[in-house]
Amino acid sequence: MSDPSCLFCRIVKGEIPAKLVHETPDVIAFRDINPQAPVHVLVIPREHIESTGALTEAHEALSGKLLVAAAEVARKEGLDSFRAVSNTGADAGQSVFHLHVHVLGGRSFTWPPG
Ligand code: 5GP
Ligand code: ZN
Repeated sequence: MSDPSCLFCRIVKGEIPAKLVHETPDVIAFRDINPQAPVHVLVIPREHIESTGALTEAHEALSGKLLVAAAEVARKEGLDSFRAVSNTGADAGQSVFHLHVHVLGGRSFTWPPG
């Protein structure tokens, strides 16, 4: 449920400060400490789940809530265009092993993302 050694679990508990932009009973969203775009928000479940790759049918409702929260963040931030990205595994660039969706916006992006 919660991992005391996990950075994002500690943010959920309020042990490490973060700039919250949105919260629901299941999900929180806060600004990335090292923004890669004018808007860069991380949307995470309160529950500790390692990555998108660890999701199962048991997480169907929560997965929907995560994506809806990403859309809410984009609306709150006034973004018409944005990227919703979930790096999964070290080779894909995941550095914090608590599931998160990056919401990036306020600039243009190239495809493929690299
Ligand atoms: P990942 O690399 O796993 O896809 O994304 C992890 C993100 O967490 C990175 O963009 C990184 O800048 C952000 N991050 C790492 N430590 C902290 C922190 O203590 N606070 C906040 N707000 N973001 C963090
Ligand atoms: Zn965690």
